[in-house]
Parts: sequence; C-alpha cells; structure tokens
Amino acid sequence: MTKKILVTGGAGFLGSHLCERLLAENHEVLCVDNYFTGNKNNILHLLDNPRFELMRHDVTFPLYVEVDEIYNLACPASPIHYQHDPVQTTKTSVHGAINMLGLAKRVGAKILQASTSEVYGDPSVHPQVESYWGNVNPIGIRSCYDEGKRCAETLFFDYFRQHQLKIKVMRIFNTYGPRMHPDDGRVVSNFIVQALQNKPITIYGDGSQTRSFCYVDDLIEGMVRLMGTGDEVTGPINIGNPNEFTIKGLAEQVVSMTNSKSEIEFLELPSDDPKQRKPDIQLAKEIIGWEPQIELSKGLEQTIRYFSKIVDQA
Ligand code: NAD
Ligand code: UDP
Repeated sequence: MTKKILVTGGAGFLGSHLCERLLAENHEVLCVDNYFTGNKNNILHLLDNPRFELMRHDVTFPLYVEVDEIYNLACPASPIHYQHDPVQTTKTSVHGAINMLGLAKRVGAKILQASTSEVYGDPSVHPQVESYWGNVNPIGIRSCYDEGKRCAETLFFDYFRQHQLKIKVMRIFNTYGPRMHPDDGRVVSNFIVQALQNKPITIYGDGSQTRSFCYVDDLIEGMVRLMGTGDEVTGPINIGNPNEFTIKGLAEQVVSMTNSKSEIEFLELPSDDPKQRKPDIQLAKEIIGWEPQIELSKGLEQTIRYFSKIVDQA
C-alpha cells in the first residue's frame, strides 16, 4: 500500500538513501531539510519523480503536513558540524523531536527516531547492548549531540507512555558510504579524501581507538524493517556492523585500497572521543531478522569509487 512518508534530514547522507529506497517501494515521500549539512545534489536525481516533494524547513519550528509515517533524521551528525553551533544542535534534537512527535500525535503517524551509539558515550560495557545506560559527559564538547539525542529518546518514550504514540527508536552506529560530505570530518570520508589526494592521513590520538563501520545499504535495510514492525516494537534497537576495527587499521586499509602515497600523521585526540565502539545486534537479529551483509572492504570500494568522482586528485 502506498504511504505518505516524511523524511526529515532527507537531503543528507542517510536521508537521501532512505528517500530513494522509499520511492522505489512506490511510496510518496516528503523530504524536509534546512540544508545545514545536507545538499540538494544528494536528491537531484529524485526531483523529477512525481511522488517526491522537497521542502526547505527547519525542524526546530512546527510543521503542519498530513503523513502516515515519519523518519526523523534531521541533525548534523559529524563532530565538526554538530560542534559548529552546539546550541542549534541541541535545539534540533530536542525541539525537532517535540515538533515531529507533536505532528505524529496530531495525524496518528508512526515515527522513527535516528538515535545514535553516542547515547552510550565512552562506553564501559563492550560490545554495547541496548540495556546499557551509557557513560556520557553532560558538559563536554560532544554533549550537545549526545545529550540532545538522549533527551530525544526520553521524549519518544514519554510520548509513547503518555500518548500511546507508535514509536521506533533506532541507535545507529558509524555508517559510511557514497554521499557522505567530503568535508564533514568523519573518519571514513576524511581518510578516503586524504588518500585520493595523497595528503597526510590524520589519525587523532594513537589510532588504537575502535569503531565498527556499517555500509549505508545495510543500514537503510535495517531502518525500513524497523519501521515495518508492529506497534509493540518500540526499540531502542542497535543497528550497526559488529566488525570492529582500530582507526589505525582503517587508515592502512584505505591507503592500500587507493594505492596512495599518503603518510600517516598523528594529531591530538579530541576530548571525550570514545575509546571503543561495537554494537551488540542480537535484538536486531531476533526482532527484525536483520544483520549486515556488506563487508568493510566491499563498502569501502563503493565509497572510494564515489569520492574519486567528486574530489580533485593530485
Ligand atoms: P547528515 O549531516 O548528512 O544529514 C543530516 C541532515 O539533517 C542534513 O541534510 C541537514 O541539512 C539536516 N538538518 C540538520 N539540522 C536540521 C534542522 N534543524 N532542520 C532540518 N534539517 C536539518 O548526517 P547523516 O549521517 O545522514 O545522519 C542522519 C541522522 O542519522 C542524524 O540524525 C544522525 O544523528 C543519525 N546518525 C548517523 C550516523 C552515521 O554514522 N551516519 C550515526 C548515528 C546517528
Ligand atoms: N578520526 C581520526 N581522524 C580523522 C577523523 C576522525 O582519527 O580525520 C577518529 C576520531 O577521533 C574517532 C574516530 O576516528 O576516534 C571516528 O570519528 P568520527 O568523527 O568518524 O565518528 P565518531 O567519533 O562520532 O564515532
């Protein structure tokens, strides 16, 4: 059945892939974005589709539209962007959640929140299970993002308990792929762009910190499956790839796959940078029958191909 679906942050990296996927399933898609980190180029190829509509709007302001489902992705996701205007970042998560939950309540829509592994902070439980409450600094430079997302989760569960809203809270772990912003400072895009340009690969700290990288197609599959679950499923549910790598290991793999002449440069580790991160995905396996299919080398290949087309190479 064709549904009317709102995607906030739809012109961003994940949002654009989600819009594409929902259109391919014959739904009507309303993409809302203020273009803070997103870009019209990400969705240019969708503009001719009569089932696709684009609206410039900031989710910190109320929105009055009629939809059946809401995917709430609007929020800058990379540390340099969310730290650029930290007050706006918290507003986007908190006021954005209030506005989108209010909309869901008014029209009776199902609503999914793009939450994050950052709610676990610098975790002392490894791998991270959904029942772990996290280790988050409330006053640090990452707090605008971490605490904003934690408060958004609180709001989702209070709207669920108080107003019986149909909610889905998804905790996304580091995801990469084509249409990441080349300058957004996230590790996969940074390393690929630096390697393609034979510039130094910037490792923060000694590179022993770990992350687990999920390819965008796997992530979107998990997101759509979660939205498709019955009302009894609220989450939170981890979606990510449990294969864990050190940042130094990632740097070496990117240099080798791009045949780059780049040297590795070690820079200061930013404060509160989590030392380790890996999702426990048992719940995702049980509840939505999901696990990632695309290995890091395969996903990196696609991502390197994308960046080789859009960045100047030395
Ligand atoms: P992105 O920066 O590419 O996309 C975010 C989009 O939201 C952009 O298009 C931006 O312009 C838009 N936006 C920002 N503030 C807005 C506002 N006030 N009103 C309307 N639009 C606004 O990042 P992404 O990687 O695509 O992330 C999408 C969502 O997924 C974010 O909520 C992020 O926190 C979450 N997430 C992503 C990852 C990841 O690894 N990519 C991990 C965890 C969580
Ligand atoms: N990182 C790095 N060099 C870079 C960008 C990031 O060493 O050029 C490190 C960063 O310090 C962190 C990891 O890579 O330990 C992942 O960073 P990213 O910003 O991609 O995501 P997050 O820290 O939010 O997981």
